[in-house]
Amino acid sequence: MVKSLIKLTFPLLFLATATTVFGSGIAQTESLAKDLVVLDSELGEKLLFTSKARRDYLPLSLEFQTQDNLAYCGVATIVMVLNALEVEAPISENHTIPGFVSYRFFTQQNVLENKSIRNVIEPELIRKQGMTLQELAGIFQTYAVKVQTFHGEDITLEQFRQLAIQNLQQPKNFLVVNYLRRSMGQKGGGHISPVVAYNESSDQFLILDVARYRYSPVWVSSLSLWKAMNTVDSVSGKTRGFLMIER
Ligand code: CA
Repeated sequence: MVKSLIKLTFPLLFLATATTVFGSGIAQTESLAKDLVVLDSELGEKLLFTSKARRDYLPLSLEFQTQDNLAYCGVATIVMVLNALEVEAPISENHTIPGFVSYRFFTQQNVLENKSIRNVIEPELIRKQGMTLQELAGIFQTYAVKVQTFHGEDITLEQFRQLAIQNLQQPKNFLVVNYLRRSMGQKGGGHISPVVAYNESSDQFLILDVARYRYSPVWVSSLSLWKAMNTVDSVSGKTRGFLMIER
């Protein structure tokens, strides 16, 4: 029941007040560059309903997380994808909320309790500096999923577009992007969130931004997103990029 209520919150809000639930509704979101289109606008909604590659929109919006702190964009994204893939969360050793004991789903706390994660990155470090694309992939791989990693410098815009569209037309696999916000006209640095739809006529992708207190879900052109992934992460010295994840 708890899980059902949590899972239903977003879509019910979306259906009831599709044009007002984001933006001025739940958060003081920051203004956007002109070529970005927020989902909760007339155009943003139209782009979604005319999209022919939105298979991942519903499963991931049912699991839509707000990152728990400024560095947890990767953690929130992992939780969304693992829950959408119905990976069973391990029984928590340190659970502090008794009501969750028999419900096997991931939260931004229990997802980091897996001891193998320390072979990838110390969880304490994630809280300070977030994670790189490789660390994101490494954490996913401590669970029962397959991950493909693509760095921005290794893939052309056309290759990215094709792979992404194919994924967004298929169920049970998901696309996660690691990009530089300021490269595509938002404020801020490196960020991670899932991509859930593509609109062919506008050539734009929809990002479900996990910093929900800051930005609404946004449509961005494939060129802008590709450029924002083709930026160097100073921690890894490599370009950002994207992952595709399946069971
Ligand atoms: Ca998919």
